[in-house]
Amino acid sequence: MVKQEFKAESKRLLEMMINSIYTQREIFLRELISNASDAIDKIYYKALTDESIAFNAADYYVKITANKEGRTLTIADTGIGMTQEDLENNLGIIAKSGSLAFKKENESKDGHNIIGQFGVGFYAAFMVADRVTVTSRALGSAEAFKWESEGADGYTIVPAEKAAVGTEIVLHIKPNTEDDNYDEFLEEYRLRSIIKKYSDFIRYPIKMDVTGQRPKAEAAEGEAPEFESYVEEQTVNSMVPIWRKNKSELTDADYEQFYNEKRYGFDKPLKHIHISADGAVVYRAILYIPENTPFDYYTKEYEKGLELYSNGVLIMDKCGDLLPDYFSFVKGMVDSEDLSLNISREMLQHDRQLTLIAKNIKNKVKSTLLSLLKDERDKYEKFYKSFGRQLKFGVYGDYGMNKDVLQDLLLFHSSKENKLVSLDEYISRMPEDQKFIYYAAGSSIERIEKLPQTEMVADKGYEILYLTDDIDEFALKSIMSYKEKQFKSVSSGDLGIEPDADADKPEEEAAGSKELFEQMQTLLSGKVTKVKASKRLKSHPVCLTSEGELSIEMEKILSAMPN
Ligand code: ADP
Ligand code: MG
Repeated sequence: MVKQEFKAESKRLLEMMINSIYTQREIFLRELISNASDAIDKIYYKALTDESIAFNAADYYVKITANKEGRTLTIADTGIGMTQEDLENNLGIIAKSGSLAFKKENESKDGHNIIGQFGVGFYAAFMVADRVTVTSRALGSAEAFKWESEGADGYTIVPAEKAAVGTEIVLHIKPNTEDDNYDEFLEEYRLRSIIKKYSDFIRYPIKMDVTGQRPKAEAAEGEAPEFESYVEEQTVNSMVPIWRKNKSELTDADYEQFYNEKRYGFDKPLKHIHISADGAVVYRAILYIPENTPFDYYTKEYEKGLELYSNGVLIMDKCGDLLPDYFSFVKGMVDSEDLSLNISREMLQHDRQLTLIAKNIKNKVKSTLLSLLKDERDKYEKFYKSFGRQLKFGVYGDYGMNKDVLQDLLLFHSSKENKLVSLDEYISRMPEDQKFIYYAAGSSIERIEKLPQTEMVADKGYEILYLTDDIDEFALKSIMSYKEKQFKSVSSGDLGIEPDADADKPEEEAAGSKELFEQMQTLLSGKVTKVKASKRLKSHPVCLTSEGELSIEMEKILSAMPN
């Protein structure tokens, strides 16, 4: 038996594969299951055109078997199998993908479910195994062959026995070392959870023998029943992902269950968005607007992102590029066939497709929030209570670049009926003579209501936005004007309100108090720049105003900030 050597480049590549390309060892199973699924797909595509091949769905599955004593993990499939030549070409030459070739040959047919394309996934097996045996019998062949390798120094192929068409891969799991635990890959529970995590939506059943406990049938009455363990073959994966189903087949409860299963949050989602896009970019997504603020939401620890699947296989837990920061509260997943992945899969190429998907998602989230605001006000206000602050940060951040996306989503407390209003609502009920959108800032609504500065504006019958959140005024400043109306603080020097004709004439009155004002100015020197008579006061003797760009409240915040 002559040992074939891997080509020199292949050797180096193999070392790299084993040591550094993948971020997590557990993905070896994802890769091998993907290959098995591809192999079944290939029979399926062949059956579409070749009448001599019957495709009976029940005959096609992947079976995972762990043997703790023998330290082996077996991945068997009933797929298309490999000839001696296939074993040679597809497993002997690293970075050669039989699946990519298959896809190209069968372009006319609907071969887009096939996952493989890089020709390296298989070697991930060597991250956990020190010896790998592949026994395979190709469709239409009576012979089987066994490929075996211990890693970088080569492989052998010999004739073998195999009763049915398909492939059986045996991994001889490495012994534990001081630093590394490999035993876990022989544990039923761990294997199940890896399969659930990455391969839950593989289209064929992934079966495992699962051990359970059950009470023995013949327990005598009154006695505690004795238990016996039994082994049962179970399908571990869910197969059809919820996002491939039609919206019309799904209920709110289905979406909620998915939210819980995926642990996107521990609350109930406020709203879900199910997207199935077939335009410039083809993808499916299920997104959620949560109801509650995650405990770490407004901290540096919080990590935004959506789960990213390529054709049903999980590629990334949190793809941050899919969400703008101001929508970082959105949870959910995206599945697309169009992504250009590189060989490690975890590392996405920053391509046009991803950018398109992200833009699409941004628009969908915005329009969903707008319709929530319009049609389900209570829900929107709940949402706003949890995440409104983030939207306001979004308006203020990035030099106000995103104000157009966000300004219609903002709500502020209003002097009218003590309610939250949107800027649009404010504008739509402005009296004709009102020139500005007025606001007053303060630490609470009660305090703002007592501000003498609000009196004149309120007396005119003008609505005032009460800004109680320290980011509020910064957000308004970033927006600058809304529907051609500028914002004006009630404490600014010029309120843009014509005084009533019968108002006092403060200038004249003030002439008699000149000395008093000078005296006050000296006493308050350094605290105020000027003391003067005012037309705006009604029931209060005095108020503070500011003349520059900044309101008194903003000045307070800025001067409290560390330099
Ligand atoms: P990829 O899946 O990206 O093509 P892999 O390294 O995972 O690369 O696999 C290399 C090739 O080996 C596949 O393209 C396929 O032709 C073949 N192969 C791997 N596993 C199987 C299998 N279980 N059944 C049939 N062919 C397989
Ligand atoms: Mg593969």
